[in-house]
Formats: sequence, structure tokens, C-alpha cells
Amino acid sequence: MRKNLIETALAMNTSGINSGTSGNLSIRSGQGMLITPSGIPYPDLRADDIVFVDENGEPQGIQKPSSEWRFHHDIYRQREDARAILHAHPSSCATLACLHKPIPAFHYMVAVAGGNDIRCASYATFGTQELSNNVLAALQGRKACLMANHGLVCLGTNLQKVLSLAIEVENLARTYSQCLALGDPIILDDEEMDRVIKKFRNYGESK
Ligand SMILES: [Zn+2]
Repeated sequence: MRKNLIETALAMNTSGINSGTSGNLSIRSGQGMLITPSGIPYPDLRADDIVFVDENGEPQGIQKPSSEWRFHHDIYRQREDARAILHAHPSSCATLACLHKPIPAFHYMVAVAGGNDIRCASYATFGTQELSNNVLAALQGRKACLMANHGLVCLGTNLQKVLSLAIEVENLARTYSQCLALGDPIILDDEEMDRVIKKFRNYGESK
């Protein structure tokens, strides 16, 4: 599990959704979670550097957990469907988040996050309980949300899915930003998005 976590963390960088040490990645493990440590570049990560945080939020390991461990911890406690969580500051998501703009149903693939929009969580200082509460609220009925003046959070049933979702949401954010630069994108209505969401469920969320 620790090696999978490191491989996916490295893939966050090669896929372009993360750079430096700003992002973090976790996977549910027993009653707790395994999470990337604070401040260590992914290429330098070794299995021992991954931190286990137990069900009470107590870290066990030689490194400190990511400064954003709190919302990872709270999401696992509230969302049974979360088996893996990814957080990063990809440029197009961060651009919209700095404008406090959610992503509406301008493209049918917005349904990949579970609903007819991708919300933007209200701003709070990084690492705080307030930020965690805001993220949980924005994730209600969704698998991804933007974070105001900050970035992106995605949850999924495994590491591969959570990485794919993050890449897709960043693509959507880029396209939506381009649409806003050119005019007013046409928004799909709720009836059409319900149809798409049902199709995604039936076809295993492929396309
Ligand atoms: Zn962050």
C-alpha cells in the first residue's frame, strides 16, 4: 500500500496536476489512513516516510503527516465511499478557485464528480478544522470540489480512480476557463445531467 501510494504520488507530478510538495495523497488503511508526509519531494519518498494516522488523528511514523491530514481524516470518517483522497493545486482548478467559481454543467463530463456541478469550498486557512468542515460541505453528494483561493480535493474507491478524477477535473477547469474567456458557456439542464449521471452509473463511470 505504501509503494502504491508513492507510485501514485509520482504520477500526480508526471500528469501535471501537482508540482513541488504542495499536494498530498492518502489511502484508507484499517481504522486509519496512510498519508504522504509533510515537506518531502515525492521522488525522495521511501515506504517508511509514509505516515499512518489512526482513527483518533494520532500520527505514527518517523515523519510528520501532510499539513492537510485533517480533511483527509474527516472525509474518511464521514464518507464510506472514500478509500483514497488526493489534494493538489492544479493551475486551472486553482484559477477558478481564486475567483470562487464553481464548475457548472457546461460539459457533460462534469457528472464524473457525481452531480450537476463541482462546488467550490469556502476559504479557510490551510490545515484548519474550519477548512475541513468547508471541504466536507462542498463534497456532499460529490467526489470532487474546488477549494477557494487554494486548489482541488478528490475522493475515490482507489488510488488510480482518484488520480484519473483529478486529471479529468483539471481538464474541465481548463476548458471552462477558456469558455469564460470567450463568452457565456451554455449550461446543460438538470434533466440532461440526471440522464448522464445514470449512464455513468450503468457504464461504470467510463465515459
Ligand atoms: Zn493545499
